[in-house]
Amino acid sequence: MIRLKNEKQIDGIRASCKMLSAMYRELIPLITPGVETIELDKWAQSWIRKAGGKPAFLGVGSKKNPFPASLCISINNEVIHGIPSRRKIADGDLVSIDGGINLGGFISDQAFTVEAGKVKEEARKLNAVTRECLKRGIGAARAGDRLLQIARAVSGYANTFGFGVVYQYCGHGVGFDLHEDPSVPNVPHGPNPRMTTGLVIAIEPMVNSGSPAVEVAPNGWTVITADDSLSAHWEHTIAIFGDRTETLTDEIVFTF
Ligand code: MG
Repeated sequence: MIRLKNEKQIDGIRASCKMLSAMYRELIPLITPGVETIELDKWAQSWIRKAGGKPAFLGVGSKKNPFPASLCISINNEVIHGIPSRRKIADGDLVSIDGGINLGGFISDQAFTVEAGKVKEEARKLNAVTRECLKRGIGAARAGDRLLQIARAVSGYANTFGFGVVYQYCGHGVGFDLHEDPSVPNVPHGPNPRMTTGLVIAIEPMVNSGSPAVEVAPNGWTVITADDSLSAHWEHTIAIFGDRTETLTDEIVFTF
């Protein structure tokens, strides 16, 4: 069931989104070769708590295997749900960061992919195309249109470069919970509801340089490309109004 949000609730989600993007602005300069991903996660968790929020990703999933961190940090062939660890970021890595904040019961969700140091041309292109996929997906999110327009915009663009768009994982409704209805696919499939005022969704293309097929790693969380190719991931939380669509999370700006 899709839970539409009223203006006041969207104000709350927007505040959560602005906090998340503000945290990312300070985090981005720390994502450099040599840093352990667990250090980035600890830093983010501390920042979020000091700002009065709660890390929305920490503890999600089953009781038996809850997600143990505040950020998902996925490197190279890891698509999403990478678990922060003592692994050091290396020069040339493609590093995807995904996080969310619960601020007074309102949830935000945003992801981006950083090029650590000097990356190969293939990685740079994949990252640029994935970012553009997100932009085109948001451009297709309009009141009155059908949801799968987003998937057509995302996959249509990525396919022209021969990249594989992940279809087994999707964007989603967000705001009261981290994952709500509707599912927001990046490749057209499944339910195709009409988008209406008060719909708040996370659009999040995950694009592979090779096959779109993915697998789950033995840790039960990390999604990896089946053919070991590279993957990039960009996400915004957006709100749909009758006359406009607002991106609630801020644009990521790389300062290096
Ligand atoms: Mg998401």
